[in-house]
Amino acid sequence: MNSLSAGEGAALDILIVGAGPAGLTAAMYLARYRRRVRVVHDGRSRALWVPRSRNIPGFPDGIVGADLLMRMTEHAVRYGAEIVEGCVVEIARDEDGALFRARLDSGATIDARGLILATGVDTNLAQLDSGDHNAAVQSGVLRYCPICDGFEHSDERIAVLGSDVHGAAEAMFLRQYSSDVTLIPKWQVALTEAQRRELAASGVDVLEGRVLRLEATEDAMLVAIEGEAAPRRFDTVYPALGSTPRSELAAMLGPLTDPNGCIPFSAFSDGLLPGVYAAGDVVEGLDQISVATGQGAMAATRLHNWLREQDGHVMADQN
Ligand SMILES: Cc1cc2nc3c(=O)[nH]c(=O)nc-3n(C[C@H](O)[C@H](O)[C@H](O)COP(=O)(O)OP(=O)(O)OC[C@H]3O[C@@H](n4cnc5c(N)ncnc54)[C@H](O)[C@@H]3O)c2cc1C
Repeated sequence: MNSLSAGEGAALDILIVGAGPAGLTAAMYLARYRRRVRVVHDGRSRALWVPRSRNIPGFPDGIVGADLLMRMTEHAVRYGAEIVEGCVVEIARDEDGALFRARLDSGATIDARGLILATGVDTNLAQLDSGDHNAAVQSGVLRYCPICDGFEHSDERIAVLGSDVHGAAEAMFLRQYSSDVTLIPKWQVALTEAQRRELAASGVDVLEGRVLRLEATEDAMLVAIEGEAAPRRFDTVYPALGSTPRSELAAMLGPLTDPNGCIPFSAFSDGLLPGVYAAGDVVEGLDQISVATGQGAMAATRLHNWLREQDGHVMADQN
């Protein structure tokens, strides 16, 4: 682990990287534990993409992702959390090994006794040949999360883009919502005969020709397939192209990620290293807002208790 030169200003109790549901929940908890806490984020929460989420407890009419983040930010700030924009490009120990030191893209450095990484993942996006990607996500003709919004497409004509096991599993998941589910290869079908039989038994149609063109209209996706005269029309398309964990900062602290770059599931409860926790999508598991908030609360509480332990404010036999 490298060391960076001295941080600016007094050390924080906790630095949180990420202002999505996980980081903002952790910030609110820590502020209410009267910790000196700062959140640094680069404005790329996936929650900003959510047109209207209908599976967050307490919001039966749904809530727009950006509105949820605004409320969560206000909640954390109300109790004293500081939230600033910037990209954290490096994290290391300070010279004494007592603090974590983060360097931002601006060159500024921040010292903190503890760290929560709530850095999320990057969704691998579909490239549209026509139509605006963001508008298509907002109108619901392009979707990225069947768990989140499959319900909204009940009995509709659904396509899944992506022909490996991941795409196949997503297509079968969507059968719960519609009997009209088609799996379309992006480049070529990469399924075994056994997997094809399973898909057929489940009633998922598998196309053989690759996608030539993806066009978003106001109320449908038009998909041109190799060898077919006219484009097919679907009410919605789910690209199953995976995601890339934003775990570079964890990797700077040690070999803390799995071969896919995910941070292990236990990181929100047991920690990654003394004083370092992670929460939300970047942690291996179910990428959902409710999960991210729960893990944020847990990481915050465990880190608070760890600091209390360091300061001699817990009973030795408290367990
Ligand atoms: C289109 C779409 C619809 C969805 N709909 C739903 C839904 O209906 N219900 C549901 O439960 N989930 C939904 N999700 C998933 C949900 O958005 C995520 O599970 C949730 O946002 C995860 O929260 P998080 O805090 O872990 O990560 P994020 O919200 O992605 O936040 C990550 C944060 O880390 C910051 N960051 C990362 N690296 C750095 C760095 N080096 N320096 C500074 N900042 C950094 C980012 O700027 C961001 O603030 C949807 C996702 C998408 C894409």
